[in-house]
This record gives sequence, structure tokens and C-alpha cells, in this order.
Amino acid sequence: MTGSGADMSDPDVVVVGAGGDAPALAWRLGQQGIDVLLLEAGPFHGNEQFPAPHSERGNTASASTDDLSGDLLDQQFTAREGDMGSPVDGKLRWGPADAERAPWARTVPQTGVISQVAGVGGTTLHYYGNHPRAFVPSINEQPHWPIDYADLVPYYQHLESVHPVKPAPTTPKAELFFEGARRSGYDLTTGLNVEDEGYRPFPNAIHQPDEALRRDGDYDGDFRDVSGDTLACHEHQGGPHPRGADFEERAKRGSLTSLVPKALATGHVEIRPNAFATEVLTRAGPGPLEACGVEYRDTWTGRTRRVFADAVVLAAGCIETPRLWLNSGLPDDGWVGKGLTTHHFDFVSGTFDSDTLEDVIGQRKVEPHQGQAAGSRLDVPGKGGIAVNTFAPGITASVMFSESIDGFAFENDTTGEPWDTHGRVTGTKLKEEMSDYRRMLTLICHTDDRPRQDNGVTLDSATEDEHGPVARIDWSPHPEDDERRDDLARRASKLLDEAGANHIHRAGAAPILLHLQSSMAMGKVLDSGGEALSVDRLFVADHSALANGVGGANPTHTGQALALRTAEHLADRYFDGVSDPIPANPTPASADD
Ligand SMILES: Cc1cc2nc3c(=O)[nH]c(=O)nc-3n(C[C@H](O)[C@H](O)[C@H](O)COP(=O)(O)OP(=O)(O)OC[C@H]3O[C@@H](n4cnc5c(N)ncnc54)[C@H](O)[C@@H]3O)c2cc1C
Repeated sequence: MTGSGADMSDPDVVVVGAGGDAPALAWRLGQQGIDVLLLEAGPFHGNEQFPAPHSERGNTASASTDDLSGDLLDQQFTAREGDMGSPVDGKLRWGPADAERAPWARTVPQTGVISQVAGVGGTTLHYYGNHPRAFVPSINEQPHWPIDYADLVPYYQHLESVHPVKPAPTTPKAELFFEGARRSGYDLTTGLNVEDEGYRPFPNAIHQPDEALRRDGDYDGDFRDVSGDTLACHEHQGGPHPRGADFEERAKRGSLTSLVPKALATGHVEIRPNAFATEVLTRAGPGPLEACGVEYRDTWTGRTRRVFADAVVLAAGCIETPRLWLNSGLPDDGWVGKGLTTHHFDFVSGTFDSDTLEDVIGQRKVEPHQGQAAGSRLDVPGKGGIAVNTFAPGITASVMFSESIDGFAFENDTTGEPWDTHGRVTGTKLKEEMSDYRRMLTLICHTDDRPRQDNGVTLDSATEDEHGPVARIDWSPHPEDDERRDDLARRASKLLDEAGANHIHRAGAAPILLHLQSSMAMGKVLDSGGEALSVDRLFVADHSALANGVGGANPTHTGQALALRTAEHLADRYFDGVSDPIPANPTPASADD
């Protein structure tokens, strides 16, 4: 039995994954009347076909917006850190929907963590709604890309209008950041195409419902009938606000609430959650090989099924897409799974005294938990970026103070450095630091990492789970990464110092692989239309298709823009083309859009 809508046993296109990028592709294909089936390994939240997604299997599929329920999201998405975000047993984790079962395994030889989420919406269930475009030079001046930045602009513009993407509201913590940036000598930048250094409100895909914040945004929706506050720093927990709002009106425009409803509304898209793809099926074609279907396993029953289609799209993310490719025995010329980039984060926090805060922002606390998790940033093309990144207290204690790879703070001599302390802080010292949480501003450095062939995904043939050999992920910084990261950490410290911080701490964070890109890169594994070079009718539409780390800008906007573009190439090559092309030169929203 399938759920609502048609039983799509014979789709035109089968897509592996319904995460951050796949719904953009499905929406675009569905608009062309192409029947698309998405197989998603994780659960479907807020869907009446799956009313208790972590304790019961529910139905098998959903193909209608009628299934989407804001009330169910209210029951399922709480604002509690552990309930939602624990990588072991949180609702948003890399693991099966069944909460009784362990997370899925991966082999990670080096220190660090990988943060990905299984479920419809994928890792955008966690994401913070930051939706900047790639830095222009990262596409036009780094020789990895077979396409130009200008090719992506119509797709960026399209997504910016549908999510929508707006400058984040200026809350007190953003004002503090901007003041530090101004005093450090940076200028405010306007426009979305970043080529030069400067600070700005984050282009952000979170609705702005609060009347008091409309001065810096132009959200014109009506939230008077719903209760709750979207400016409460709960993006990591799924962004459950505002409580009581309809499914599609949830403030955070992760793919679950933004693009999935649009895809389902075409009437040509079906999503099967709890469906883990284990093999890409191929046959001989006019070229050496062509894809014709997918084998998948129901994660509740263990039953396997095959589904056949005219084209197959891999959108399982930067780790599972190459794992599936390799487990399917598809050709590998040396770049499959390789060239993986991540933004080699570091964190720098400043603690302020109340009188200074009163002078700078007119209130005696930063109140980091107020406002969207990350609403302001400094762009440094060639190096990366620095953003306000206010985690809830538990995560702050962990990433800011407890997970350093640079040793204990008491061991590190910081004489002559721009930070007062550097490294791991535990015990009483950690309690002291955290007791200042409400007067603390935490900045994240997104380092522009460049692709190298020895970073990436291979199979760990010694470790198998129910879906085959697991992925082994090797990542170490590109030789210039540490230098770039250090440069950004120094800029972040200066900014905090100029804003008046009385104590600055640099984490020296262990690698957190959370912005992942380029493990199946366009130009290496894929052609410029997103189709595999060695297998016909096989496309990739997730962040693995990106050709580099987009300069250090948050990658989801570019991943989704590329997925829209890939959908059009797929439709042109194997179907009747695109009836309503996204205009190449729409009326710009501002002078330099
Ligand atoms: C805490 C946090 C905050 C973030 N904030 C931001 C931000 O503000 N801005 C930004 O741009 N990015 C942000 N990111 C990163 C962003 O969420 C990811 O880059 C993005 O979701 C990646 O999209 P994707 O489609 O490549 O993969 P995913 O979104 O991970 O989707 C892949 C999907 O495929 C499914 N899947 C995997 N294997 C299989 C299989 N074999 N069969 C079936 N399905 C499978 C997965 O379950 C998943 O749903 C953040 C990430 C985290 C963790």
C-alpha cells in the first residue's frame, strides 16, 4: 500500500535522497510533468502518513501537500537540544527513524565529527537558514568549475524569491558585531554577488515575524494568529517556530518546509521515507553503461525492492552518494568520492562587561540566544568568512570550549596573541566561562578549503552494516587551510576587541564536517550538466556535485541552485525539455543582483 497520491511504481526519474538539494530538482522536474520518486533513508516529519515517525513505520509514501501537518510538527519538533540534536538518539541524526536503533556507522580515522541528518529535508533540518551565494571568485577564478558564476545567477534569484531569502534582522548581537567590524575598518557591503571584503546582514532564509524586527526586513506575512517566536535560536533543533503555524509557514525555510511542499504540489512527485538505496542498477547502453534503476531497503522491515526509471539522480549527500556509487561497482577514475572540502571551522568568542554593552548596544547583556542563530557576517574572499554563530548553551560549552585540538588552555602561552585564552577549558573554568554565556558573542570562522584528491570517501570493507560496506572519510586540511584559518581567527579576535570584549577565547576547534562539498565534483566525475561522465542517465544533485567549497560561503544556496540547473539539463537530455525556462536576465531586485 502506498500513501496519498498515485502509486509511483513506474516513475520517470528516481532520486536517492530527499535532503537539502533533491527537493529543488524534484520540484523543477515535477513542473515539467516528469514523474519523480524520491527514496529517502530517514523519516518524514510533520506528515500524516507517518504520525509517529520514530516509533512506528506508518505508511510507505506521501505524494500530496494534504499530508503535511503543522500540528504534527508541533508534536514532533521540540526546542530541546538533546531531544532534537543528540547525534546518538536525537530525532535529527544520521540513523534510522526507529529511535530504538543505533545510528548508522561511518569510519572516521581522524579527530573530529561529521554532522548530517537523515530525514526528508536532510541536513537542512539542522541548518541555520544562512543562504548566501558563492563568492564570485571561488567559481570564476578557481579553475575547478566547468561553468561560470553567471550561469548560476538566474537559479539563485529564483530560489531567493521562493524561500524567500532576505537580509537577516539586526538584533543586538548583530549590532555588536557590526560595530566591531566598522571599528576594524571594514565597510558595509550591499548586493548579493560577493567579490570584496566587507560586513553585512546574512542573506537568510528565515521568515521575520516579529513586528519589532521589520525595520530591517520586509516580511509581510501575517503571524498574528500564531504564538511563538522565530527569533529564539532554535534552528539546530529543527526550527520549530512559530508554534501553531501551518507546515509551509514555519519560519525556517529548510527544504522540508520550503521546497518539499512545492515539489509535492506539482502532483508529479512522491517521497518514500525509510527507503535506503543500496545499489544503482545499470545496463549496457549506447555508451559504455547507463543507469536504469535503484535497489533499496525498507529500514523498518528490512525488505528490499527495485524501482526502474529513465534516469537516476543521486542526492544522498557528500558521503553517501560516493558510498552508494562505490557499493554499486560503478566506474571510478580516481575522483569518485575525492576532492571533499569542508569549511575547516574555528570559533572565537568574546565576553563583554555590562557597562560596555550598555554603551555599544544599549542593553547590559548580549543575549546570544535571542535572534536567529547566525544573522551577520564578514566576507573575506580568498580566505573565507566570519559569522556570528550563537549556539544554545550546551553546544557552546562543547564546540567553543571542550573540543579543541590545540590542547588545554592552561598549557597554551598566549603572550603576544590577540586572544587571552586558547584551547580546551574544562571543570570549574568551563563553568565560569559558561556563567558568562549571556554576555558572550561567539564567532565562527568558515575557512575556504580547496579540493585535494587525497581527501574524501572510500569504502571501509572491514565494516559492513545492513546497507553494505560503510563509508570511510579521510579529511585533513589543505596545506594553505591552517594559514587561512589562522588569519580569520585573528580578524575575528580584532573585531571582538574593537567591539569592547574584555576576554577573548579561541577554540582551536577539532574538524567539524558540517559544510561538506565536492566529493563527486562537476568537472571531475560529472559533466557541466550534472550527468556522470562514465555512466549515462545517472546524475548527481547534492553538494557533492559542487566543484569546490564555494569560497567559504555557506553552501546550500549554491547546491540548490545547481540542482535546479541539473534538473533542466536532465529534462533537456532525456525528456521533452523545459517549457518554462527560468529567465536568464530577470529584472534585478537591486542594482547589482
Ligand atoms: C548544524 C548545521 C547548521 C547548518 N547551517 C547551514 C546554513 O545556515 N547554511 C547552509 O548553507 N548550510 C548549512 N548547513 C549545511 C547544510 O545543511 C548542508 O550543506 C546541506 O543540507 C547539504 O545538502 P545535501 O543535499 O548535499 O545533503 P543532505 O541535506 O544531507 O541530504 C542528503 C539526504 O540523502 C539521504 N540519504 C543518504 N543516503 C541515502 C541512501 N543511500 N538512500 C536514500 N537516502 C539517502 C539522507 O538521509 C539525507 O536526507 C548546516 C549544517 C548543520 C549540521
